[in-house]
Amino acid sequence: MLIYYADHYVLPLPAGHRFPMRKYAALRERVASIAADRMRVPAAATDAELARVHDADYLRAVIGGTLDAAAQRRIGFPWSAAMVERSRRSAGATLAACRSALDSGCGVNLAGGTHHAHRAHGEGFCVFNDAAVAARAMQAEGRAARVLIFDLDVHQGDGTAEIFADDASVFTCSLHGRGNFPFRKAASDLDVELADATGDDAYLATLRIALERALDQSRADLVIYLAGADPYAGDRLGRLALSKPGIAARDRLVLATLHDASMPVAVAMAGGYAENIDDIVDIHFATVATALELFAATQPITPMPSPSGIHPDAIIAARVAKFVV
Ligand SMILES: [Zn+2]
Repeated sequence: MLIYYADHYVLPLPAGHRFPMRKYAALRERVASIAADRMRVPAAATDAELARVHDADYLRAVIGGTLDAAAQRRIGFPWSAAMVERSRRSAGATLAACRSALDSGCGVNLAGGTHHAHRAHGEGFCVFNDAAVAARAMQAEGRAARVLIFDLDVHQGDGTAEIFADDASVFTCSLHGRGNFPFRKAASDLDVELADATGDDAYLATLRIALERALDQSRADLVIYLAGADPYAGDRLGRLALSKPGIAARDRLVLATLHDASMPVAVAMAGGYAENIDDIVDIHFATVATALELFAATQPITPMPSPSGIHPDAIIAARVAKFVV
């Protein structure tokens, strides 16, 4: 079981921006305290991998920095070459986590879950849809025929639903707050809408039914689990009211069910916007700790590859120069 991180590919944001970029480095440091030997930097998703999911004109505009102002605002980040590279790495991390899952039962991306990225536009801090890119990559590599994307971020996975609307080989399931963004919901294969202020017990009872149904209907070879931290009661953007122990119970229910079914699972962290960054990190860290407890206890670790020694800035500059779709 390997754990992928790319927070050193920093996405530069103006002061006061509401995206909690700091959570990623803090989470990586916490996870390193218990599993440093399992942590890896992912390869960036390639143009070909992205193009299996996203519209070529959209990719050309994102990568070349020519999105119009409205499209850029919809994403919510200012454009930079570093934004593109970070988004590629985040997609690459979920892709690598899927390979780890298929090899060993589980893999983790300490970022990802950018489920508002549609085929031809980005939205809500999401540039590329990492779960979609990873699902299509595993299919293209012949490693999985059918994939379940199980999305427990508090916001609906509308981009993922749109991308796979006409694709019966990828089953999309989203449990989300009815009152949360996006206000015009897309149609997943299975949507479960929860009322404002839904708490632990009602959430877990609903989850148990949805998980069983999604596993049954998807007939998947691989699950990509979006373990959002934003169903938390203290989240600024989420409208549900789960406690930290409630979210930990959610993760245990999902991961233990998959473990017992010998179903490979790649976990992405997805959203988290609590006022206090430590709360978000606590929740994500607990997700990773549960995955380690269930999947890593008896596994050997593959040797660490030697670092390339190339500075991230040099990689970003080279990539912008040579983009082709
Ligand atoms: Zn979210």
